[in-house]
Amino acid sequence: MYDVAIIGAGINGSSVAYELTEAGLSVVVFDKDGIASGGSGAAGAFISPKFSKSGELKALIDKAFIYSMKFYEENFPHLLTKAPLQHITHEGEKFPLIDAGIVSASAMCHALCSGAKYKQEEISDLVYEDDYWVLNETYSAKYIVIATGAYKHVIREPYIQLRGVWGHRIDVKTSTINDKSLHQFVSISPSKDGIVAIGATHNLDYHPQTSNKPYDIEQGRAELLEKAARTIELKDVEVLKDYMGLRSGSFDYMPLLGRLVLSQATLECCERKVKVKKPDFENFLYYPNLFMINGNGGYGFVLAPYLAKKLCQHIVKGTQLDNALSPARFFARWVKRRK
Ligand SMILES: Cc1cc2nc3c(=O)[nH]c(=O)nc-3n(C[C@H](O)[C@H](O)[C@H](O)COP(=O)(O)OP(=O)(O)OC[C@H]3O[C@@H](n4cnc5c(N)ncnc54)[C@H](O)[C@@H]3O)c2cc1C
Repeated sequence: MYDVAIIGAGINGSSVAYELTEAGLSVVVFDKDGIASGGSGAAGAFISPKFSKSGELKALIDKAFIYSMKFYEENFPHLLTKAPLQHITHEGEKFPLIDAGIVSASAMCHALCSGAKYKQEEISDLVYEDDYWVLNETYSAKYIVIATGAYKHVIREPYIQLRGVWGHRIDVKTSTINDKSLHQFVSISPSKDGIVAIGATHNLDYHPQTSNKPYDIEQGRAELLEKAARTIELKDVEVLKDYMGLRSGSFDYMPLLGRLVLSQATLECCERKVKVKKPDFENFLYYPNLFMINGNGGYGFVLAPYLAKKLCQHIVKGTQLDNALSPARFFARWVKRRK
Protein backbone atom coordinates (compact mmCIF):
# COMPACT_ATOMS: atom_id res chain seq x y z
CA MET A 1 0.00 0.00 0.00
CA TYR A 2 1.41 3.38 -1.03
CA ASP A 3 0.32 6.90 -0.18
CA VAL A 4 0.57 7.92 -3.84
CA ALA A 5 0.86 6.08 -7.17
CA ILE A 6 2.13 8.15 -10.09
CA ILE A 7 1.47 6.93 -13.63
CA GLY A 8 4.12 8.19 -16.05
CA ALA A 9 7.78 8.93 -15.34
CA GLY A 10 8.40 11.92 -17.60
CA ILE A 11 9.43 15.27 -16.10
CA ASN A 12 5.90 15.83 -14.75
CA GLY A 13 5.54 12.48 -12.94
CA SER A 14 9.17 12.56 -11.77
CA SER A 15 8.85 16.10 -10.36
CA VAL A 16 5.71 15.10 -8.44
CA ALA A 17 7.53 12.00 -7.13
CA TYR A 18 10.35 14.22 -5.87
CA GLU A 19 8.08 16.67 -4.05
CA LEU A 20 5.97 13.96 -2.43
CA THR A 21 8.91 11.82 -1.28
CA GLU A 22 10.61 14.95 0.11
CA ALA A 23 7.38 15.57 2.05
CA GLY A 24 7.70 12.08 3.56
CA LEU A 25 5.03 10.20 1.59
CA SER A 26 5.48 6.68 0.24
CA VAL A 27 5.35 6.89 -3.55
CA VAL A 28 5.38 4.38 -6.40
CA VAL A 29 6.01 5.52 -9.98
CA PHE A 30 4.91 3.42 -12.98
CA ASP A 31 6.09 3.84 -16.54
CA LYS A 32 5.25 1.50 -19.38
CA ASP A 33 8.57 2.01 -21.19
CA GLY A 34 11.03 3.39 -18.63
CA ILE A 35 11.88 6.63 -16.84
CA ALA A 36 12.04 9.51 -19.39
CA SER A 37 11.03 7.22 -22.24
CA GLY A 38 8.42 9.68 -23.60
CA GLY A 39 8.73 13.31 -24.68
CA SER A 40 10.92 14.12 -21.68
CA GLY A 41 13.77 11.88 -22.83
CA ALA A 42 13.85 13.69 -26.18
CA ALA A 43 13.87 17.22 -24.78
CA GLY A 44 16.75 19.64 -25.18
CA ALA A 45 15.54 20.77 -21.75
CA PHE A 46 16.38 24.46 -22.21
CA ILE A 47 15.14 26.37 -19.17
CA SER A 48 13.91 29.66 -20.52
CA PRO A 49 11.12 32.20 -20.05
CA LYS A 50 8.51 32.81 -22.73
CA PHE A 51 9.47 35.59 -25.11
CA SER A 52 6.08 36.78 -26.31
CA LYS A 53 3.44 39.38 -25.64
CA SER A 54 1.95 39.39 -22.16
CA GLY A 55 -0.79 36.93 -21.31
CA GLU A 56 -1.80 34.26 -18.84
CA LEU A 57 0.52 31.60 -20.26
CA LYS A 58 3.53 33.92 -20.43
CA ALA A 59 2.94 35.02 -16.82
CA LEU A 60 2.80 31.38 -15.68
CA ILE A 61 5.90 30.32 -17.64
CA ASP A 62 7.90 33.33 -16.48
CA LYS A 63 7.05 32.58 -12.83
CA ALA A 64 7.88 28.89 -13.36
CA PHE A 65 11.17 29.84 -15.08
CA ILE A 66 12.40 31.73 -12.02
CA TYR A 67 11.21 28.94 -9.72
CA SER A 68 12.68 26.06 -11.75
CA MET A 69 16.11 27.70 -12.28
CA LYS A 70 16.41 28.08 -8.50
CA PHE A 71 15.03 24.57 -7.91
CA TYR A 72 17.50 22.87 -10.26
CA GLU A 73 20.40 24.99 -9.03
CA GLU A 74 19.73 24.25 -5.36
CA ASN A 75 18.84 20.57 -5.64
CA PHE A 76 20.57 19.22 -8.76
CA PRO A 77 23.41 21.61 -9.65
CA HIS A 78 25.39 18.79 -11.33
CA LEU A 79 22.53 18.28 -13.84
CA LEU A 80 22.15 21.97 -14.69
CA THR A 81 24.38 23.85 -17.11
CA LYS A 82 23.97 27.56 -16.53
CA ALA A 83 24.39 29.56 -19.72
CA PRO A 84 23.43 33.00 -21.01
CA LEU A 85 20.51 32.92 -23.43
CA GLN A 86 19.91 35.19 -26.36
CA HIS A 87 16.44 35.30 -27.85
CA ILE A 88 16.31 36.64 -31.39
CA THR A 89 13.00 37.36 -33.16
CA HIS A 90 12.41 35.89 -36.63
CA GLU A 91 13.04 39.39 -37.99
CA GLY A 92 16.48 39.48 -36.34
CA GLU A 93 15.84 41.75 -33.34
CA LYS A 94 18.08 40.66 -30.46
CA PHE A 95 16.76 40.65 -26.89
CA PRO A 96 19.22 41.38 -24.05
CA LEU A 97 21.10 38.33 -22.76
CA ILE A 98 19.50 36.64 -19.74
CA ASP A 99 20.79 34.05 -17.26
CA ALA A 100 19.22 30.72 -18.16
CA GLY A 101 20.15 27.04 -18.23
CA ILE A 102 19.90 23.59 -19.72
CA VAL A 103 19.28 20.41 -17.76
CA SER A 104 20.28 16.84 -18.53
CA ALA A 105 16.79 15.62 -19.36
CA SER A 106 16.90 11.88 -18.75
CA ALA A 107 19.33 12.05 -15.81
CA MET A 108 17.12 14.67 -14.17
CA CYS A 109 14.01 12.46 -14.37
CA HIS A 110 15.99 9.53 -12.90
CA ALA A 111 17.33 11.71 -10.07
CA LEU A 112 13.86 13.09 -9.25
CA CYS A 113 12.40 9.57 -9.04
CA SER A 114 15.21 8.17 -6.88
CA GLY A 115 13.32 8.48 -3.56
CA ALA A 116 10.28 6.61 -4.90
CA LYS A 117 9.69 2.97 -5.72
CA TYR A 118 9.82 2.57 -9.51
CA LYS A 119 8.07 -0.12 -11.56
CA GLN A 120 8.21 -0.56 -15.30
CA GLU A 121 4.64 -1.50 -16.04
CA GLU A 122 1.76 -0.16 -18.08
CA ILE A 123 -1.23 0.76 -15.94
CA SER A 124 -4.42 -0.15 -17.77
CA ASP A 125 -6.81 -0.81 -14.92
CA LEU A 126 -7.77 1.61 -12.14
CA VAL A 127 -10.51 0.83 -9.65
CA TYR A 128 -11.53 2.80 -6.56
CA GLU A 129 -12.74 0.65 -3.68
CA ASP A 130 -12.91 1.10 0.10
CA ASP A 131 -11.20 4.52 -0.03
CA TYR A 132 -8.21 3.24 -2.05
CA TRP A 133 -7.24 3.03 -5.67
CA VAL A 134 -6.28 -0.42 -6.96
CA LEU A 135 -3.99 -0.47 -10.00
CA ASN A 136 -3.82 -3.47 -12.36
CA GLU A 137 -5.53 -5.49 -9.61
CA THR A 138 -2.16 -5.60 -7.82
CA TYR A 139 -1.08 -2.31 -6.25
CA SER A 140 -3.01 0.01 -3.98
CA ALA A 141 -2.61 3.69 -3.16
CA LYS A 142 -4.61 6.42 -1.49
CA TYR A 143 -3.91 8.99 -4.21
CA ILE A 144 -3.32 8.69 -7.96
CA VAL A 145 -1.42 11.19 -10.11
CA ILE A 146 -1.84 10.76 -13.86
CA ALA A 147 1.21 12.09 -15.72
CA THR A 148 0.99 10.17 -18.98
CA GLY A 149 1.85 12.98 -21.43
CA ALA A 150 0.49 12.71 -24.96
CA TYR A 151 -0.11 8.96 -24.76
CA LYS A 152 -3.50 7.32 -24.60
CA HIS A 153 -5.26 8.04 -21.34
CA VAL A 154 -5.65 5.64 -18.45
CA ILE A 155 -8.94 7.35 -17.61
CA ARG A 156 -11.12 8.05 -20.61
CA GLU A 157 -13.09 11.26 -20.28
CA PRO A 158 -14.41 12.88 -23.48
CA TYR A 159 -13.52 16.43 -22.42
CA ILE A 160 -9.81 15.63 -21.94
CA GLN A 161 -8.21 16.08 -25.33
CA LEU A 162 -4.50 16.66 -25.71
CA ARG A 163 -2.51 17.29 -28.85
CA GLY A 164 0.68 15.34 -29.39
CA VAL A 165 3.21 17.50 -31.26
CA TRP A 166 6.12 15.46 -32.57
CA GLY A 167 9.56 16.96 -32.01
CA HIS A 168 13.03 16.06 -33.28
CA ARG A 169 16.34 17.43 -32.04
CA ILE A 170 19.97 16.54 -32.71
CA ASP A 171 23.41 16.69 -31.14
CA VAL A 172 26.06 17.73 -33.65
CA LYS A 173 29.84 17.83 -33.58
CA THR A 174 31.17 21.12 -34.91
CA SER A 175 34.45 23.04 -34.94
CA THR A 176 32.51 26.27 -34.25
CA ILE A 177 32.60 27.45 -30.63
CA ASN A 178 29.25 28.83 -29.49
CA ASP A 179 29.28 30.46 -26.03
CA LYS A 180 25.54 30.97 -25.38
CA SER A 181 22.11 29.48 -25.96
CA LEU A 182 20.54 30.99 -29.05
CA HIS A 183 16.78 30.86 -29.57
CA GLN A 184 15.46 31.92 -32.95
CA PHE A 185 14.01 29.48 -35.52
CA VAL A 186 15.33 26.63 -33.35
CA SER A 187 17.27 26.55 -30.09
CA ILE A 188 21.05 26.11 -30.27
CA SER A 189 23.00 25.23 -27.13
CA PRO A 190 26.46 26.46 -26.18
CA SER A 191 29.28 24.10 -27.21
CA LYS A 192 30.34 21.45 -24.74
CA ASP A 193 33.33 19.27 -25.71
CA GLY A 194 32.80 20.33 -29.35
CA ILE A 195 29.13 19.28 -29.30
CA VAL A 196 26.12 21.55 -29.84
CA ALA A 197 22.45 20.57 -29.35
CA ILE A 198 19.96 21.84 -31.93
CA GLY A 199 16.21 21.57 -31.47
CA ALA A 200 13.48 21.13 -31.95
CA THR A 201 11.04 20.66 -34.84
CA HIS A 202 7.26 21.04 -34.37
CA ASN A 203 5.77 18.40 -36.61
CA LEU A 204 1.97 18.18 -36.73
CA ASP A 205 1.88 15.72 -39.66
CA TYR A 206 3.57 12.81 -37.94
CA HIS A 207 2.23 10.90 -34.91
CA PRO A 208 3.91 7.64 -33.80
CA GLN A 209 0.57 6.01 -32.94
CA THR A 210 -1.54 7.08 -35.92
CA SER A 211 0.72 7.86 -38.93
CA ASN A 212 0.89 5.17 -41.59
CA LYS A 213 4.28 6.31 -42.93
CA PRO A 214 7.49 6.11 -40.83
CA TYR A 215 9.02 9.38 -39.62
CA ASP A 216 11.57 10.81 -42.09
CA ILE A 217 14.70 11.36 -39.95
CA GLU A 218 16.77 12.79 -42.83
CA GLN A 219 14.14 15.42 -43.52
CA GLY A 220 13.99 16.33 -39.82
CA ARG A 221 17.79 16.68 -39.65
CA ALA A 222 17.82 18.83 -42.79
CA GLU A 223 15.13 21.13 -41.33
CA LEU A 224 17.05 21.52 -38.05
CA LEU A 225 20.38 22.27 -39.78
CA GLU A 226 18.80 24.72 -42.21
CA LYS A 227 17.02 26.60 -39.39
CA ALA A 228 20.17 26.67 -37.23
CA ALA A 229 22.19 28.00 -40.18
CA ARG A 230 19.91 31.04 -40.37
CA THR A 231 21.12 32.01 -36.86
CA ILE A 232 24.75 30.86 -36.71
CA GLU A 233 27.27 29.39 -39.12
CA LEU A 234 28.27 26.00 -37.71
CA LYS A 235 31.38 24.58 -39.41
CA ASP A 236 32.35 20.92 -40.01
CA VAL A 237 29.01 19.60 -38.81
CA GLU A 238 28.52 15.91 -38.12
CA VAL A 239 25.21 14.68 -36.67
CA LEU A 240 25.98 12.48 -33.66
CA LYS A 241 22.57 11.62 -32.24
CA ASP A 242 18.84 12.07 -32.87
CA TYR A 243 16.20 12.46 -30.16
CA MET A 244 12.50 12.31 -30.94
CA GLY A 245 9.29 12.40 -28.93
CA LEU A 246 5.83 13.81 -28.40
CA ARG A 247 5.06 17.00 -26.55
CA SER A 248 1.63 17.10 -24.99
CA GLY A 249 -0.32 20.33 -25.44
CA SER A 250 -3.79 21.42 -24.39
CA PHE A 251 -6.17 23.26 -26.71
CA ASP A 252 -5.81 26.56 -24.84
CA TYR A 253 -2.03 26.01 -24.35
CA MET A 254 -2.32 26.22 -20.54
CA PRO A 255 -1.21 23.12 -18.59
CA LEU A 256 -3.67 20.84 -16.80
CA LEU A 257 -3.19 20.53 -13.06
CA GLY A 258 -5.85 19.24 -10.72
CA ARG A 259 -8.78 16.91 -10.19
CA LEU A 260 -10.67 15.18 -13.00
CA VAL A 261 -14.41 15.68 -13.31
CA LEU A 262 -16.63 12.59 -13.45
CA SER A 263 -18.46 13.79 -16.56
CA GLN A 264 -21.35 11.32 -16.66
CA ALA A 265 -22.16 11.61 -12.96
CA THR A 266 -21.92 15.42 -13.06
CA LEU A 267 -24.25 15.63 -16.07
CA GLU A 268 -26.76 13.37 -14.36
CA CYS A 269 -26.79 15.32 -11.11
CA CYS A 270 -26.40 18.91 -12.18
CA GLU A 271 -26.18 19.69 -15.90
CA ARG A 272 -28.04 22.97 -15.31
CA LYS A 273 -25.32 24.21 -12.94
CA VAL A 274 -22.64 23.44 -15.54
CA LYS A 275 -24.37 25.28 -18.36
CA VAL A 276 -24.37 28.69 -16.66
CA LYS A 277 -22.07 31.45 -17.94
CA LYS A 278 -19.44 31.08 -15.23
CA PRO A 279 -19.94 27.64 -13.64
CA ASP A 280 -18.64 27.06 -10.14
CA PHE A 281 -16.21 24.14 -10.42
CA GLU A 282 -17.11 23.16 -6.85
CA ASN A 283 -20.53 22.05 -8.16
CA PHE A 284 -18.95 19.31 -10.28
CA LEU A 285 -18.34 15.73 -9.13
CA TYR A 286 -14.75 14.48 -9.24
CA TYR A 287 -12.82 11.22 -9.19
CA PRO A 288 -11.79 10.87 -5.54
CA ASN A 289 -8.12 11.52 -4.69
CA LEU A 290 -7.08 11.52 -8.34
CA PHE A 291 -5.12 14.28 -10.08
CA MET A 292 -3.72 15.02 -13.52
CA ILE A 293 -0.58 16.94 -14.44
CA ASN A 294 -0.14 17.35 -18.19
CA GLY A 295 -0.18 19.64 -21.22
CA ASN A 296 3.12 21.47 -20.68
CA GLY A 297 3.75 21.85 -24.42
CA GLY A 298 7.33 22.87 -25.17
CA TYR A 299 7.99 24.03 -21.58
CA GLY A 300 7.86 20.76 -19.61
CA PHE A 301 11.20 21.23 -17.87
CA VAL A 302 10.34 24.84 -16.99
CA LEU A 303 6.82 24.18 -15.70
CA ALA A 304 7.08 20.76 -14.02
CA PRO A 305 8.98 21.69 -10.81
CA TYR A 306 6.60 24.61 -10.18
CA LEU A 307 3.40 22.68 -10.92
CA ALA A 308 4.60 19.65 -8.94
CA LYS A 309 5.22 21.86 -5.90
CA LYS A 310 1.68 23.24 -6.16
CA LEU A 311 0.20 19.75 -6.47
CA CYS A 312 2.21 18.43 -3.53
CA GLN A 313 1.08 21.36 -1.34
CA HIS A 314 -2.50 20.60 -2.32
CA ILE A 315 -2.22 16.88 -1.48
CA VAL A 316 -0.29 17.35 1.75
CA LYS A 317 -1.65 20.65 3.09
CA GLY A 318 -4.92 21.11 1.24
CA THR A 319 -3.89 24.42 -0.37
CA GLN A 320 -6.03 25.54 -3.31
CA LEU A 321 -5.02 24.80 -6.89
CA ASP A 322 -5.47 27.47 -9.54
CA ASN A 323 -8.83 27.17 -11.34
CA ALA A 324 -7.21 28.49 -14.53
CA LEU A 325 -5.21 25.24 -14.69
CA SER A 326 -8.03 22.93 -13.65
CA PRO A 327 -8.98 20.20 -16.17
CA ALA A 328 -12.57 21.10 -15.16
CA ARG A 329 -12.40 24.12 -17.51
CA PHE A 330 -12.46 21.71 -20.47
CA PHE A 331 -15.44 19.86 -19.00
CA ALA A 332 -17.44 23.09 -18.77
CA ARG A 333 -16.57 23.98 -22.39
CA TRP A 334 -17.35 20.46 -23.62
CA VAL A 335 -20.79 20.51 -21.98
CA LYS A 336 -21.64 23.85 -23.59
CA ARG A 337 -20.65 22.55 -27.05
CA ARG A 338 -22.69 19.33 -26.71
CA LYS A 339 -26.04 19.19 -28.45
C1 LIG B 1 12.22 17.18 -29.15
C2 LIG B 1 11.68 17.88 -27.95
C3 LIG B 1 12.38 18.96 -27.41
C4 LIG B 1 11.89 19.62 -26.28
N1 LIG B 1 12.61 20.65 -25.74
C5 LIG B 1 12.21 21.21 -24.56
C6 LIG B 1 12.99 22.22 -23.94
O1 LIG B 1 14.05 22.62 -24.45
N2 LIG B 1 12.56 22.73 -22.75
C7 LIG B 1 11.41 22.29 -22.15
O2 LIG B 1 11.08 22.77 -21.06
N3 LIG B 1 10.64 21.36 -22.74
C8 LIG B 1 11.01 20.81 -23.93
N4 LIG B 1 10.23 19.87 -24.53
C9 LIG B 1 8.90 19.59 -23.97
C10 LIG B 1 8.98 18.61 -22.82
O3 LIG B 1 9.79 17.53 -23.17
C11 LIG B 1 7.57 18.13 -22.47
O4 LIG B 1 6.78 19.22 -22.06
C12 LIG B 1 7.65 17.09 -21.36
O5 LIG B 1 8.38 15.99 -21.82
C13 LIG B 1 6.28 16.63 -20.92
O6 LIG B 1 6.51 15.73 -19.87
P1 LIG B 1 5.42 14.70 -19.39
O7 LIG B 1 5.95 14.09 -18.16
O8 LIG B 1 4.08 15.35 -19.36
O9 LIG B 1 5.29 13.63 -20.60
P2 LIG B 1 6.26 12.46 -21.07
O10 LIG B 1 7.68 12.78 -20.92
O11 LIG B 1 5.81 12.07 -22.44
O12 LIG B 1 5.96 11.29 -20.03
C14 LIG B 1 4.80 10.52 -20.02
C15 LIG B 1 5.21 9.11 -19.61
O13 LIG B 1 4.04 8.36 -19.32
C16 LIG B 1 4.27 7.02 -19.68
N5 LIG B 1 2.94 6.38 -19.81
C17 LIG B 1 1.93 6.75 -20.63
N6 LIG B 1 0.85 5.97 -20.42
C18 LIG B 1 1.19 5.10 -19.42
C19 LIG B 1 0.51 4.05 -18.75
N7 LIG B 1 -0.79 3.74 -19.05
N8 LIG B 1 1.14 3.33 -17.80
C20 LIG B 1 2.45 3.63 -17.47
N9 LIG B 1 3.15 4.62 -18.09
C21 LIG B 1 2.52 5.35 -19.05
C22 LIG B 1 5.04 7.13 -20.99
O14 LIG B 1 5.78 5.96 -21.26
C23 LIG B 1 5.94 8.35 -20.72
O15 LIG B 1 7.22 8.00 -20.27
C24 LIG B 1 10.67 19.20 -25.67
C25 LIG B 1 9.98 18.10 -26.20
C26 LIG B 1 10.47 17.45 -27.33
C27 LIG B 1 9.71 16.28 -27.87
